[in-house]
Amino acid sequence: MDLYGSSLVVAEAVSREIRFKANIPDARRKPENRVMCVSAEQVVALLDSGAIRVCELPPAPGTMDKLDRVLRQLREVDADQAKGVATSQVDSAWKHAGEAESIVSAARTIEHGRTAILLTNDGGASRVAQRHGVPSRHVGNLLAELGCADRTLGATKLYDQFTQVTAKFASVPIDARPADSAFFECEMTDATCCRCDSANPG
Ligand SMILES: [Zn+2]
Repeated sequence: MDLYGSSLVVAEAVSREIRFKANIPDARRKPENRVMCVSAEQVVALLDSGAIRVCELPPAPGTMDKLDRVLRQLREVDADQAKGVATSQVDSAWKHAGEAESIVSAARTIEHGRTAILLTNDGGASRVAQRHGVPSRHVGNLLAELGCADRTLGATKLYDQFTQVTAKFASVPIDARPADSAFFECEMTDATCCRCDSANPG
């Protein structure tokens, strides 16, 4: 939070999804979703305090068309990837609503000459985002940036954190997944580290 501060925003559809997960009653929390629900509660507290802002889709002409187009692309990527893997209808409808809104908002921000980066662990969403000129990062990239910002955290600890966070949800596709703790090592040698540089442009 300290690293990104007020630049961290979520789309309305994403904030709805997080609030829904935080409100899942104890009786319906199972070992598979407990960590997710507890994490959602923490994010809701940050949303309520205003530390994380909710970004509304700009009512610009063409926004709804673009949203439809992005949704269709996300579903196409999903259909390609699914091949017999069952995901619940509700989950996937929501997931796409949040991703589509996030991609369209980020694309609009970039069209206006400002910077936006999509945070997603979903490989399909990051590919669709790229088609719309939106760069993306996953939770492993964020933890690595955290490691650059605070060298005392240590690569091994960050790799452990990554493994824990992505064990039951927020999974990162295998091809993008860090193989070992070396991924979290700051590469600062001769005063250059591309990650430090991209986290602190200028
Ligand atoms: Zn670094």
